[in-house]
Amino acid sequence: MRTPLIAGNWKMNGSTALIDAFGDAFAAAKLPDGVDVVVIPPFPYLEAARNAFANTPLQLGAQTLNPQHSGAHTGEVSGRMLKEFDVAYVLVGHSERRQLYRESDEEVFDRLIAALEVGMIPILCVGESLEERDAGNTMEVVLRQVGYVMARLEPVQRYQVVVAYEPVWAIGTGRTATPEQAQDVMAGIRSYQASFDKTLAEQLKLLYGGSMNANNAAELLAQPDIDGGLVGGASLKTDDFYAICQSAG
Ligand code: 13P
Repeated sequence: MRTPLIAGNWKMNGSTALIDAFGDAFAAAKLPDGVDVVVIPPFPYLEAARNAFANTPLQLGAQTLNPQHSGAHTGEVSGRMLKEFDVAYVLVGHSERRQLYRESDEEVFDRLIAALEVGMIPILCVGESLEERDAGNTMEVVLRQVGYVMARLEPVQRYQVVVAYEPVWAIGTGRTATPEQAQDVMAGIRSYQASFDKTLAEQLKLLYGGSMNANNAAELLAQPDIDGGLVGGASLKTDDFYAICQSAG
């Protein structure tokens, strides 16, 4: 059985006031049993979030990490530092980082390894652009992104990775993939894994991301190969995010 996971990626949004609002809302809230919920705020809020979430079921995630653990990398943050703030999950390869900061598959892999080295769970983000979808290359792009990382990991390390499928054209656009479109890609990722490790394929946690909200979450999460969500805009409102968490139960 794969435990559902709902993760809220705040991107470069939020405030200490929003951290407190989430702490208050989720201290009072009853989440469905067996659903993991992660909030991923910007770095400066991690300490406040650790304190505010102490009496809630919310776990902490980070949006990126440097491949190195320390050193002369001005402006960067390492996994070892994040671990000090009880960060359990970290995003790697988000399409915004691939596009805006030109992160290659190789850099994504280096970051993912750094996360595993300090005992954090990497959420590997993959997804095709609109041009790639229109050209019929969706599966090729997604399997290249997943396959590049998985092929370079030790077999046992592959079990530590969560994969988030986020079609770039659905991110922040209000244009969600249909449940069928998302399910097709998820099934493709799972059967690709099954071709070399059936147990891994059964256990691999797959999240959908891209304009997921309180209205469409239930239908997406009902798909057999969708195990959770990576939520952007709708994770910035306590009520919406709570409703999405409820849909995962
Ligand atoms: P939106 O939910 O705002 O489309 O963002 C999705 C996303 O990029 C989460 O990582």
